[in-house]
Amino acid sequence: MSKTYIIGNWKLNPETIKKAESLVRGIIAKVSSSRTKEIAIASPFPFLSMMKTVADKKISLGAQDVSMYDDGAHTGDVSAMMLKSMGVKYCIVGHSERRADGETNEMVAIKVRKLLDEKIMPIICVGESDRDTAGNYRDILAEQVRISCAKITPKEADSFFIAYEPVWAIGEKAKRGAHPDECLEATVIIRRELANIVKDTKKATNAVILYGGSSSQETAPEFLRVGGVQGFLLGRLSLDAKSFSSFISSL
Ligand code: PEP
Repeated sequence: MSKTYIIGNWKLNPETIKKAESLVRGIIAKVSSSRTKEIAIASPFPFLSMMKTVADKKISLGAQDVSMYDDGAHTGDVSAMMLKSMGVKYCIVGHSERRADGETNEMVAIKVRKLLDEKIMPIICVGESDRDTAGNYRDILAEQVRISCAKITPKEADSFFIAYEPVWAIGEKAKRGAHPDECLEATVIIRRELANIVKDTKKATNAVILYGGSSSQETAPEFLRVGGVQGFLLGRLSLDAKSFSSFISSL
């Protein structure tokens, strides 16, 4: 049986470490990783140490960004080696909210390399801003994958995840999530680009792709069945232990 991946992205939440601890305790009281489901939370950096102690392998540790640098004069940055030393297993890179703040595909590629060098699994976010009727979104998506993944070697074909997150479907302002068939089309484009990068169509077919963007427990099983993905990156839902755990239980 193949594994399903559910990764929560807490973003800039919750407000305090006390609230973060209560949230993660609420989550692990209801769910934990198993042979068939891998659960991880990408928490803010200051909570990582607490998360490691409290979660105690029931859920894996994730981070939301990494520095392009290893050390030196980069105020505010956190390096891949620092994350590794905290027990971080996954790290989101290229989230649309960071891309909106100026992160380019080239910067994402450098971050991916840093993470791979530390054996941290990058979760590389890609996704178009609009589904234009002319179909330009296909080229945008392909270019994001091509450049963001350019520093991955063929031997690392199973060392990274892609998160397909159409920007128009993310967050409170989204009018709707994507349909599974829209997601499937995106995964075909992504896998075609990955095949060139890892130089192996079968490995590209097996690469883990997550869907993110207003996912719900009603639609999630259909995404796994026909959407071409093996799991989900969840924003808002991961901030409520009950919603997050019932989403996971529904899969
Ligand atoms: C996200 O921002 O990664 C995300 C998927 O958010 P939401 O689930 O809240 O749409």
